[in-house]
Amino acid sequence: MSSAPLLVFDFDGVLMDGMPEYWWSARRAAQRLDPALVLPEQAPAAFAVLRPQIHKGWEMVLVATALARPDFSLEAWLRNYDQSLALEMTQLTASEEALQAALESVRNTALREDPAAWLARHRFFPGVERRLRQLGEEGVPWLVLTTKGGAYAMRLLEAAGLEPEVVYGHERGSKPEVLLSLRNGERPLWFVEDRRPTLERVRATPGLEPVRCFLALWGYLAPGDSDGLQSRAILPLDAARFAGPLAGWL
Ligand SMILES: [Mg+2]
Repeated sequence: MSSAPLLVFDFDGVLMDGMPEYWWSARRAAQRLDPALVLPEQAPAAFAVLRPQIHKGWEMVLVATALARPDFSLEAWLRNYDQSLALEMTQLTASEEALQAALESVRNTALREDPAAWLARHRFFPGVERRLRQLGEEGVPWLVLTTKGGAYAMRLLEAAGLEPEVVYGHERGSKPEVLLSLRNGERPLWFVEDRRPTLERVRATPGLEPVRCFLALWGYLAPGDSDGLQSRAILPLDAARFAGPLAGWL
């Protein structure tokens, strides 16, 4: 390959499977906002079903408070996620900022009091650690672009001895904004993400046309997410191709 690309990886759902932690922290954050809230210790199945829709951390807290309602309807949430989110926000009279702060406060407490237990609620998807180490050996630069707080992703990567060029968390702006700032005439940008609407947004952003977009098929996908990718100039990436040479990804 003439010019090695800069690989930009989404974190949750691409590198990391943190489903147990998402529920663990979202449940606690929801209970901080409403101590009377009764929620099971184990994630309800609906939480995992809705995970592919979730864009930002604070949304998980709203999904948790919604799940505590006797009239919760998974069907309504799947039919119109954004509307259900807005309705739950109104009922809770909270703000995005307050929800995000509650979530990060739960995570900060966990990292202070029992970091080993917090780390243990996560696992890298199979093959990810090995492939990232190989990229390092091949001299291919990679970085992380996540809607999570950057420090949490960094902590998990450090614990595994993995060294990205940089980790951009939600503090750095939207993913299209960060990708725009990473443009560089010489070095192709390859973006690996498991959330289809995010890839669609990148595709629709002027200036990001040259970015190669990959949908990580092992991630948190909703039914139909991998349909019609070709017409949107999004490349499907399965685990076997991810494990192989970069030229084979195209
Ligand atoms: Mg993701």
